Amino acid sequence: MDPSLVATLRYLQRTGVWLLGADAAPAERATLDDVRRELGDCRRCRLWETRTQIVFGVGSPEAELVFVGEAPGFHEDVQGEPFVGRAGQLLDRMISAIGLSRDRVYIANVLKCRPPDNRDPAPDEVAACIPFLWRQIAAIRPRVICALGAHAARSLLGVEGPITSLRGRPQQAGRWTVVPTYHPAFLLRNPRFKRQAWSDLKTVRALLSASRNTPPG
Ligand code: URA
Repeated sequence: MDPSLVATLRYLQRTGVWLLGADAAPAERATLDDVRRELGDCRRCRLWETRTQIVFGVGSPEAELVFVGEAPGFHEDVQGEPFVGRAGQLLDRMISAIGLSRDRVYIANVLKCRPPDNRDPAPDEVAACIPFLWRQIAAIRPRVICALGAHAARSLLGVEGPITSLRGRPQQAGRWTVVPTYHPAFLLRNPRFKRQAWSDLKTVRALLSASRNTPPG
């Protein structure tokens, strides 16, 4: 990609322009089926050329908690569902550790198509894809969003920085509360960070309990 375009997109990310979709007014709110229809056979970035299929998201359309990962990997691209590989098995255990199950939460990714060789998402791919994630979130209206890993946290919050400094701190993305934590694939490679991830999940659980006393946003 043209380096000046990369620089421009990174600048836009820092200004938080990708967060514009985070504030969709209730009147504009679509259902998840509407968002899926609008996405169609997406060719808004180059990833359609190498994907097997679009990985839209899975779980309850009324979930109180949404997990957002980075992008589908090999298994997700084949099966059409987020987090079905080894990282997905760990995510399932993280979800049950806070008393929930995969069918009571919603799981999606910043990108809906697998980047070749699982490379990092490119800024223009995020810019093309994230509006659909915001529309999914607006359709669900979760009480908390848990960002899995640095790419998800940075994309959702419009910030930079390592996951070590972002994790565990609830921050607002428009009207949504986002708690970043480590990506399960990172935790598989670095199990000593599981203790911190558990602390982040307890923060998520506490926010969910506290928010149950207030009507949904
Ligand atoms: N890693 C992700 O970020 N998302 C998936 O769906 C699978 C692995």
